[in-house]
Amino acid sequence: MVTTHSLGYPRIGKHRELKFALETYWKGNLSADELERTAADLRRRHWLDQSHLDWVPVGDFSLYDQVLDMSATLGNLPARVLSSDRGPDLDAYFRAARGRSQACCGGGVTAGEMTKWFDTNYHYIVPELDQTTRFTLNPERLLAQFQEARQQGHNAKPVILGPVTYLWLAKSTDGSPKLDALPGLLTVYGQLLEQLAEAGADWIQVDEPALVTELDADWRHAFELAYHQLKGCRPKLLVTTYFGQLRENLQLACELPVAGLHLDAVSARPEVERLIDWLPAHKVLSLGVINGRNVWATDLTPLLDWLEPLYARLRDRLWLAPSCSLLHVPVDLELEAALDPTLVQWLAFARQKLAELSLLATALTDGRERISGALSANRDALSSRRASPLTRRDDVRAALGRVTPQLGSRQAPYAERALLQARRLNLPPYPTTTIGSFPQTPDIRQARRAFRQGELDESGYHHRIRQEIARCVEEQEALGLDVLVHGEAERNDMVEYFGERLDGFAFTQFGWVQSYGSRCVKPPILYGDVRRPNPMTIDWFRYAQSLTSRPVKGMLTGPVTLLNWSFVRDDQPRSETCWQLALAVREEVQDLERAGAAVIQIDEAALREGLPLRRSDWPEYLDWAIDAFRLAANGVDNQTQIHTHMCYSEFNDILDAIARMDADVITIENARSHNALLDAFREVDYPNDLGPGVYDIHSPNVPAAAQIADLLRQAAQRLPAQKLWVNPDCGLKTRRWEEVRPALAAMVAAAAELREGVEAVAQ
Ligand code: GLN
Ligand code: ZN
Repeated sequence: MVTTHSLGYPRIGKHRELKFALETYWKGNLSADELERTAADLRRRHWLDQSHLDWVPVGDFSLYDQVLDMSATLGNLPARVLSSDRGPDLDAYFRAARGRSQACCGGGVTAGEMTKWFDTNYHYIVPELDQTTRFTLNPERLLAQFQEARQQGHNAKPVILGPVTYLWLAKSTDGSPKLDALPGLLTVYGQLLEQLAEAGADWIQVDEPALVTELDADWRHAFELAYHQLKGCRPKLLVTTYFGQLRENLQLACELPVAGLHLDAVSARPEVERLIDWLPAHKVLSLGVINGRNVWATDLTPLLDWLEPLYARLRDRLWLAPSCSLLHVPVDLELEAALDPTLVQWLAFARQKLAELSLLATALTDGRERISGALSANRDALSSRRASPLTRRDDVRAALGRVTPQLGSRQAPYAERALLQARRLNLPPYPTTTIGSFPQTPDIRQARRAFRQGELDESGYHHRIRQEIARCVEEQEALGLDVLVHGEAERNDMVEYFGERLDGFAFTQFGWVQSYGSRCVKPPILYGDVRRPNPMTIDWFRYAQSLTSRPVKGMLTGPVTLLNWSFVRDDQPRSETCWQLALAVREEVQDLERAGAAVIQIDEAALREGLPLRRSDWPEYLDWAIDAFRLAANGVDNQTQIHTHMCYSEFNDILDAIARMDADVITIENARSHNALLDAFREVDYPNDLGPGVYDIHSPNVPAAAQIADLLRQAAQRLPAQKLWVNPDCGLKTRRWEEVRPALAAMVAAAAELREGVEAVAQ
């Protein structure tokens, strides 16, 4: 018999019940008991959704983040979040996640740092370690949920983050080596495993995704040490790896003294044969055969062709699961009543993926005949996908076929272009601009809602947007900014806006996935060849430019960001899809140029997010991603100025790629890192213009002009003043006008102050 299990289930709820309960609790309008009731109800429903599996996961549910849960279980919440009188409680837990504002009772508490969970869009709270860290076990949450699942009649498999990956994800706050904490940590892990055994746990899933990353000798040794020490514990351990291939860690993983190993057989399928050869004959092999990170239905027939001989060899030792936790996909496709039924048959969300898993297990155990109806329906659906005009458009493929490397190159080198652009734009030194969006007022959101619901007609809605654009232009002129924007009032989201206007994208109603805490995103589904049927931004640009004699920036989202923030088709390489996006954006860029835009900004906020987990795979990604940007951006005349924007501050390791984009101006996040990254730009002698963000738009604090001027002076010590632009860190859509106005006024004043200096030198 094949054993089926899942590594984790989405916890937010199919109607985002957890999000709403959390936010109501944080506002003080829900009691802790009520929050816990919602959580328990979600767990109950999610276990029911998974009850056809042999094992359901327990402990994957979290009120905020599973890594933070592990920190709480290990007694490793930062001391600053604990109330002095009590141990860790719910509020301490949320303080670790979200901090506490200065204005609050007891004063400010800094939240734990948040960072991306491997190469996904999920963010976890980084555990903190220092020399004094002592772990103590708080097993109550896990034990209680284990009992809960058992009382509801489930075969429960506790899920914990493994000790080595826990340390690997942590940060040392005093510079002491993280692995120093391993012995103490293992003692507590040992106690936890014993308590779970005591409570009746048979198998325990121990997540060690760090095994798919490049590990040095110390970390590899840590794996051996950890599992040799935990070997004596009673429960059987299933070590899970996911998000990639094991490569040089394959032997290490096989030889860990545990009862079973899970491999992501979607991304590491070529390793399965070798793994079976290496794996000692008493161990269970769990294969993650259903993609836990995309929304596509699995092609079951070829998968069975591949699995049947493996099953013949492994028999009871074979377990089947999704490749990773289903945290990264929406809950239930059945809710999507408005989605094109043709598309629906090609898709699978969490519930549907687990149904596929059960079908596979039945076919293996009882023969394919048992599921012949389902198999042929699956075959028909997927062959219709391959042949569908929705997925393949000859005109798009022909256009891609005509792409040559020259299309990605500007006509003249930067130095030459810069002179032509300076003559055309006639900007002062330290030119001021913003990143694109201005406050999305409740009024504008309300108009968009009314338009979507049919209560406001198109001309009424467009009138409202034009009013908002006029207001933005007026405000910017009054502030004295040099390069203006139209304000992006018409955009709810920088990807959704373009996706809705391009062929090849679909939008779900309930396809939410957790980004962090209560925050969810609803990525569009990029299912087919991408084509731009009509211009997307030209009318708004024209209108804004008609109101002012100052240059208005055309504002677009770049191809790599459109790709990285969508669920992308799995029937062709991502690079190919990205080039299709690039061609569509290129057409828009050229239309903007024809409409008179002297400056066009192409945002690539998510470029870095697409970096593969292993550094050795970076060059390949960066090659095609940067080529796609160049294809989108560089089809303009020399005197058209291309800007790009990225909202992060880690550039050191990708600077070559950034330089290869050849954007005339790049604006970046910088205020929080205080110019540190400018050194990196200086070191490589970055040739083009740069706008280091001068204030943090995430904070409601209004910066003082003197503080901005200071930051600019420091920037000017690192880079030539004539290369510097003055702008905020990112777009202003989440801020209020009352914050934006004085902040931008301070920014303009600071730029004016520095200009005087430049002019004094020139005289
Ligand atoms: N132009 C976008 C804005 O200003 C950029 C957003 C982003 O970088 N995340 O809102
Ligand atoms: Zn940004």
